[in-house]
Amino acid sequence: MSTKASKPNKKPSLSNWFLNTSQIIDCLQELFLPDEIVEELELIDIDELLLDGFSTIILDLDNTLLGTYERNIPLENIHWIQQLKSLGFRVFVFSNNSDKRRVQKMCRQLNVYGTFFSMKPLPFSLKEFANIHKINLKKTIYVGDQMLTDVFVGNWVKAYSVLVLSDKYPLTFIKKVQKDIEQKLLKFIAPKDND
Ligand SMILES: [Mg+2]
Repeated sequence: MSTKASKPNKKPSLSNWFLNTSQIIDCLQELFLPDEIVEELELIDIDELLLDGFSTIILDLDNTLLGTYERNIPLENIHWIQQLKSLGFRVFVFSNNSDKRRVQKMCRQLNVYGTFFSMKPLPFSLKEFANIHKINLKKTIYVGDQMLTDVFVGNWVKAYSVLVLSDKYPLTFIKKVQKDIEQKLLKFIAPKDND
């Protein structure tokens, strides 16, 4: 006697092939929703994160530590970095800027290691950077001003991602358009009060 494996009597449905809205939002949150949003770097609760076991902080450069057109890191940010170091944090700069001399100059001002043309949001360069500097990315705070690059790469490597939503630096036209798209995305995926 032969038996046939019984197939579940399930008609193929188009909806099985697509994610519903809630699943799409879950995916987008996983990729683009920062763990924390601040208006200024100084508002990141570093003491709390230190207690939670974080030991490294990686920072984007342009429009996070200084404006695109500025030539020097603002003093308050230099002091903030010094404070981080005095608490025991390892601090790094990870920039997409292709101007090697500019990034090197800023790293010298902060006395930190950094990299330029980092290919964000692709994560392989950050992973390589972490390998070189023996960084545990899961114990790292990743800070930047853009969701589509900084938050994405931070979330991808399972770091603690912080989005700095400051309007104190003037943006180029392209960056303004990107910021507008990011604001709409953030509004779409931000957890609602009843979540
Ligand atoms: Mg930036």
